[in-house]
Formats: sequence, C-alpha cells, structure tokens
Amino acid sequence: MLGKKEVMVGIDMGGTRLRALVVNAENKILGMRRAPTNAKQKPDRLVRDIALLVEGAVQSAGLKLSDVRAVSMGVPGAVDAESGMVFHAPNLGWKKVPLGSKLSALLKVPVFIENDVHVGVMGEYILGAGRGARELVGIFVGTGIGGGIILGGGLYEGARGSAGEVGHIVIEINGPLCGCGNHGCAEALASRTAMERDVRAAIRRGEKSIVLKLMKERGRERMTSSIIERALIEHDPVMEKVMEHAQFCLGILVANVVNMLDPECVVIGGGIAARLGKDYVSPIRRTAYQYFLRRNDARLVKIVPGLLGDDAGPLGAVALAKLRLKGKAGP
Ligand SMILES: [Zn+2]
Repeated sequence: MLGKKEVMVGIDMGGTRLRALVVNAENKILGMRRAPTNAKQKPDRLVRDIALLVEGAVQSAGLKLSDVRAVSMGVPGAVDAESGMVFHAPNLGWKKVPLGSKLSALLKVPVFIENDVHVGVMGEYILGAGRGARELVGIFVGTGIGGGIILGGGLYEGARGSAGEVGHIVIEINGPLCGCGNHGCAEALASRTAMERDVRAAIRRGEKSIVLKLMKERGRERMTSSIIERALIEHDPVMEKVMEHAQFCLGILVANVVNMLDPECVVIGGGIAARLGKDYVSPIRRTAYQYFLRRNDARLVKIVPGLLGDDAGPLGAVALAKLRLKGKAGP
C-alpha cells in the first residue's frame, strides 16, 4: 500500500515534447504520459495542457491528484526556482511566465520549476552515471549544449541563477557564430546543430556523404542522433570527420571545466551520448586528459556517458523537489 503523499510527478518540458513520470519515494516509476509541446499557443493554454498531462500520468499510475506531494518541472530556459517564474524560454516564446503559481493553482499541488538541463544533471547525479560523486559537472549535448554543476552535494546556481552555461565557453575566438551572438562557443562547434552545419558544408564542397539521403528516407529535416548513429555505422567519411572534430572540441571543453572546478565526475548527457555511449565519450575523455593541468592523476576524474537517457530530466526534477521540500537545494 502506498503511503499518502509519497508520490511525486517529474516533468521534462522540451521545445517539442512534454514527458511526465509518476515516481514513488524509492524513485520507482509508477506511471508515464507524453504529449507534444504546442509551443505556438499562449502560455495559459500550454499550462492547461501540462495540468492535463499530470492528471493523465497520475491516473496511469492508478492514483489521484490528492496522492501527489509535489510536481517538479524542468523548463528550457532561464527560471527563478524560488518564485517558479520562467523569465525567458526562447523555444517557447515565453517571457516572464509565472509557471509555478499558474500550474499550482490548477493542480492544487506544490509545483517546483527548474532549468531543464539542471534537472537532467541532478537526475544523473542522484540516480545515474554520477551516483556516489560529490562534485560533478553535467554537459548535455543536443541542439545546443547545456550544463549544470553540483558542488558539495547540491546544485550550484550562481549569483544570478545562471551557473553552468558550459555551452558558451569560448573554445575558438574566431570560430563560427553562436546563437548567443558570440563566436566559437562550444555550442557553435560541437552541438548537433553545429555538426549538421558542418556536414552540410562538406557536402556543398562536393564531399560524398549518405547523411542527406538518410534524412530524406526517414522524413527528417534535421540530423537527429539516430541519423548520426546510422551514418557512423556505415562509416560515412564526412560524418566521421565532423564527429571527430566535435569530440575534440568537447574534450577541450571538459578540460576547461575540470581545470576550473576539479569535479570527481563529468557526465556527458543528451541524445548522442545516449545512443553512442562510450564510443562517443572515449575520444572526448582522451582529449580532456591531455589538456588537464594536472595530468599525473587525470584518471581520478571520471568522464562518462549519462545512464538515464530521457528519464534523467523527470527523475532529476523529482530529486530536486525532494531536496527543496527538505529545504536544501543549494550546496
Ligand atoms: Zn554562445
């Protein structure tokens, strides 16, 4: 028999889809619901969609909303965790949306809000590849590159709540333009978007590649992680070269982060890492070790792929809510 109020709902809100997990006190998944994120509609409509998703997920676990102790959400943007305010979420077109209070008013349950990458890092830290570490950095590679820092067992938020933006560490000052307006950020060199740009440029120069054919066959407009995986299995020379460069840049990024923070563990998360695992991370680790200031015991710093895949966000959101309910989210 489930104790009342032991259940929490963790939600990962991406630019294109929402995913809610119902989780018990032992972090066992009791129920799940997915829905597309209709980013074009007004925030109030989207908040109502999220409330319906939560209700559906709770029902799928055979429970009621009154059994839920808290709902916790990762949102793709800048948030104020204290007030539950989403300041800016470019993928959703949101500016200053009080998501926490709106959702909590609909569900009559406490709602916690956090940046989506921060919750993913928290998930890997508490339940995934970073388990047992005390100081950890998570680097999530997808359409962009995000990150999060765990120091002293808690999420390090920074003075303005924006710590961990490792994707905008500049690796190449005259490098390609980044979405942030600067040049040569890690995100502009090694994200999936950057890799796709480099693959397309190589094809335009006349290099032979099966990538565009794969995208067409699968009806994809973007170079997804599964297309990257397939092209590498087929030994596509353009993909191999682009991947090697992205891994090199990520190795430099990891080394910069380790030289700065000296964590026990760096978790590389996101879709590519979930698909390719150690084949993706091993070359990153090799480069990183070469660029560590302290190389003699480099191997003490674990550099590993994430273990939780899509569950990292919702499970991490729940873990973070538990810390907040205990009154200790920060280090
Ligand atoms: Zn940038």
